[in-house]
Amino acid sequence: MTTLLLHGGATDPTAPVSRAGGLPLAPEGFGWPRCAECAGAMQFIAHLDRGTDVVAVFMCQNEPGLCEEWDAAAGGNRAYVFPAEELTPLAAPAEGETLLDKVAVLTARPVEAETYGKEDTFGPVDGMAVLGQLGGEPYWLQWDETPDCGGCGKEMGFVAQLDQVANFGGGYAYAFACDACAEAAFLWQC
Ligand SMILES: [Zn+2]
Ligand SMILES: [Zn+2]
Repeated sequence: MTTLLLHGGATDPTAPVSRAGGLPLAPEGFGWPRCAECAGAMQFIAHLDRGTDVVAVFMCQNEPGLCEEWDAAAGGNRAYVFPAEELTPLAAPAEGETLLDKVAVLTARPVEAETYGKEDTFGPVDGMAVLGQLGGEPYWLQWDETPDCGGCGKEMGFVAQLDQVANFGGGYAYAFACDACAEAAFLWQC
């Protein structure tokens, strides 16, 4: 069984549902992440609702390709775990490539497939484009790059794989989290 993430249509940019694009929902006082490479404000990529918490993904797009934004540790992207309670929309900074053009609901849909594969493995499901998978096993385009948690050093758990929703060089992006440490990481391959 594989749980796909399907394009569930447009929604409000602040909707508290799993989505690509729109505005991040963050705890009070959280500052919009900046890129460690170019210092510009990052682009908000996705809000992944996990029930009791959310994983928020950001990636630098101010100098596409120059900020090592595909790397989990280079500082060109950031992912966070926020407790689901009392999150509020974060206003986007005035400068920088901070928002995706469109908001797309990520609708989880279990399907009878052993693994998530290349794009051509799955056509649209009920007319909805496949934008990734939720949980399960990552489908690596290159080698296994499962990151270790910066807090406890253990291998992080796989949260979701994303396709097409942002500039991943035509490849796949991967979000991970350590539940014990409430840390998250993000990377992509092509
Ligand atoms: Zn940058
Ligand atoms: Zn940890």
